[in-house]
This record gives sequence, structure tokens and C-alpha cells, in this order.
Amino acid sequence: MCVFCKIVKGELPAKVVYEDEKVMAFHDINPQAPIHILVIPKEHIETLNDLEEKHKELIGHIFLVIKKIAEELGIAQSGYRVLVNCNRDGGQEIYHLHFHLLGGKPLGPMVCR
Ligand code: 5GP
Ligand code: ZN
Repeated sequence: MCVFCKIVKGELPAKVVYEDEKVMAFHDINPQAPIHILVIPKEHIETLNDLEEKHKELIGHIFLVIKKIAEELGIAQSGYRVLVNCNRDGGQEIYHLHFHLLGGKPLGPMVCR
């Protein structure tokens, strides 16, 4: 089972900021900004490439959850960045689809190292 599925099942601890039937959000263990939240579907979807028509509603829901978390954490107006890494060249490390929500400081232009 993957790391994020273990978090969903409560087998690994996480600092959870949001949870519902389909989605979970928690603080990244190695934050790259003052606020760095990972928003994941509870369903194990490996990468963005594995999304199908049936996931359309789920993905829309995830963006509404991201918006809600940004509001609750007080960064909606100052601004934030949402990122998905896909496969090797995208820098994906955990093969369970997740959306990075980053904010809490000016992030500057997006840099690809
Ligand atoms: P990726 O590179 O796959 O897009 O991002 C994976 C993210 O998951 C990284 O930012 C990494 O710090 C985070 N991460 C890896 N393992 C854990 C964990 O066990 N708990 C939490 N909360 N975050 C993790
Ligand atoms: Zn998983």
C-alpha cells in the first residue's frame, strides 16, 4: 500500500486539515513554503495520467476543497499556487495523485530547476 493510502487509512500519522468521504488534506512533511498542504483523493489514483471521465466530479470537488482550505488558512487573498507533479520528469515522488497547495509568502515566478 502506498504512503498516502496509509495516511487515508490512519496507519500513518498526518496533520490533517480537511477530510470528507472522497478527499483528504494534510500538511506536507517537508514544507517548501510557510503553508504547504497536500490535497489527495482517497481513491488510489497513481498519476494525473490515470484520470478518467468518471473522475471529473472528484477533480472539480478537489479544487473547491483547495479553495476552502486557502480561505481557512488565510491565504486566499494574498495568493497561493497549486501544483501537480506527474511521473519522472514532473518530479513525482509519491505515486498517489496529489495537489500541492503552497502559500504564505510571495512565491515568485515558477522556476523549473
Ligand atoms: P511529489 O514530488 O510526489 O509531487 O510530492 C510528494 C510530497 O509528499 C513531497 O512534498 C513530500 O515532502 C511529501 N511526503 C512524502 N512522504 C510524506 C509523508 O509520509 N507524510 C506527508 N505528510 N508528506 C509526505
Ligand atoms: Zn495510494
